[in-house]
Amino acid sequence: MRHVYLCFLFIYLCSCQKKDDVQLIELFAGETKLLLEVKTKDENSSLVFINLHDDEVTSTEAFNSFYEDCNCRFYHLMNNRRRNIVFSVNHHDGEFDPNGIFSSTGIERQLKKHHYFNPKSEAAVKKFSEDFLATLDLNSHDFVVSLHNNSDGNFSVQSYVADTSRSEGALEFNLSPNRDEDDFFIVTKREFFESFRKQDFNVVLLNPTSPEDDGSLSDYCNKHGIDYINVEAEDGHLEEQKKMIETALLLFGE
Ligand SMILES: [Zn+2]
Repeated sequence: MRHVYLCFLFIYLCSCQKKDDVQLIELFAGETKLLLEVKTKDENSSLVFINLHDDEVTSTEAFNSFYEDCNCRFYHLMNNRRRNIVFSVNHHDGEFDPNGIFSSTGIERQLKKHHYFNPKSEAAVKKFSEDFLATLDLNSHDFVVSLHNNSDGNFSVQSYVADTSRSEGALEFNLSPNRDEDDFFIVTKREFFESFRKQDFNVVLLNPTSPEDDGSLSDYCNKHGIDYINVEAEDGHLEEQKKMIETALLLFGE
């Protein structure tokens, strides 16, 4: 009888614990293998979260506190807690920022920046970029949210303000006097912009006709009409980034 009871208990526990579907997908940059972790809470979800920079741990920590209750999918590019990817073609090492290779212009810029621009390295990174985008299949999702961290004063909402480096890329921006300029949203949809602005967040609405293209996922989504939100917070601003993710989730009815 005891065995029967334990058997029923086991079956009950198995049916209650909905196990996440975790996949590791192999991607290659030249001869270098990279792993993309894909965690799926809801296979039919229209909402996807992406972490491209493996060293931006505040953003993943912030997201993890919502993941259990989120009907979404999460992509995490694993890179030994480093930002840039070091790759090898014909035994020569090159380097690129994984958030700078979603266009030909971006790939060229990245490889020149790291002094390894030639036809073979360009083809290798182009293949990586194409395979990565094919795996993400962004057009099949209604909403794409990328998670990033920056360092103090390095990249902020001020970067998009008139007369600064990225001002041509912004259609509109909202600066909040009550928030750190390093904590801000970048969005491709006016509805998202208005919602964040009304809630007194720093937010940038990208200009869909801007010629600016740094090969980032933001510029890619902007040019391809994908509803996209970048949740960008200063490294260590865990509570601020949690609040931002929570606010974004509410937009999607989560
Ligand atoms: Zn980042």
